[in-house]
Amino acid sequence: MTPEYRTRALVLRTFDQGESDRLVHLYTEELGRVSAIAKGARRSRRRFPGTLELFCVLDVRIVDPPRSSLMRLEGARLVRSFGDLTGELRRYAIACQFVELLDRLTAENQPAPDLLRFAIGVLEVLSEEVPDRLLALLVLAKTLARLGYRPQLQMCAECGSALPRGSEVGFDPRQGGAVCPACRALDALPVPSDLLAALELGICSPLRERAALGLSEAEVRRAETLVRRFFQFHIGFELRTARFLAQSLGDAAVVDDGASRVDTPRASVGRASVHGGGSRTGPDAGPRPREPQGGL
Ligand SMILES: [Zn+2]
Repeated sequence: MTPEYRTRALVLRTFDQGESDRLVHLYTEELGRVSAIAKGARRSRRRFPGTLELFCVLDVRIVDPPRSSLMRLEGARLVRSFGDLTGELRRYAIACQFVELLDRLTAENQPAPDLLRFAIGVLEVLSEEVPDRLLALLVLAKTLARLGYRPQLQMCAECGSALPRGSEVGFDPRQGGAVCPACRALDALPVPSDLLAALELGICSPLRERAALGLSEAEVRRAETLVRRFFQFHIGFELRTARFLAQSLGDAAVVDDGASRVDTPRASVGRASVHGGGSRTGPDAGPRPREPQGGL
């Protein structure tokens, strides 16, 4: 008997497959992330009308044939489309980065409690709020924290002592995050402890309340550097959507500040104070995605 599942799902990525099929990456409530083949989806629009698009929330019927490595998408009903996310470049870019994180940092067939609800909540905020730089940063930081990659920002990651308020401390991804003046290595990034406290508060608070953090543009950029270095050290690959997002936020050139490549990223996963994460595949494994277009 072929196991069959009915569950709610978010479309993370789709690929054309052969003449008539589409491969769909879904984050589902019951199964976690799955890849499923939608037979005939390219040939007949009636089979999956308006459902196999990025950001769509669906009720799906999936079967898991024995002896097949791929699940099969048998039916999909549209619950919500989030189509308005595509109408504004920054909004779209932040949302693309968000679904890439879910696609690449969650484990296949391992549902995380409430992650789908979290994802839908983030997409709701993105479709309603002004898509500013701080929103992009906090979506990244909150999602990483949610997936088990959370820097220590409240105390020294080495000795556990409280960080002195109103003074400069260090930030070092190798040590897990914030480091007090006594523990900090020479090459740790200097950073005001108040900025770390604000970032921690931003990770813990609703995205809609981010203005209350009172961060200047310069502080947001500084916090971005911390999160990016933490990401590069602990996760170790570049997001496909990173450059597109940076460009949409008005950064002409680049995403990589070049600092962290020396840090032997992949090998470090699991050694430091991070956990979770799940399976990871190379950025270009598999066929090219249909989306996102527009600058990627
Ligand atoms: Zn210390």
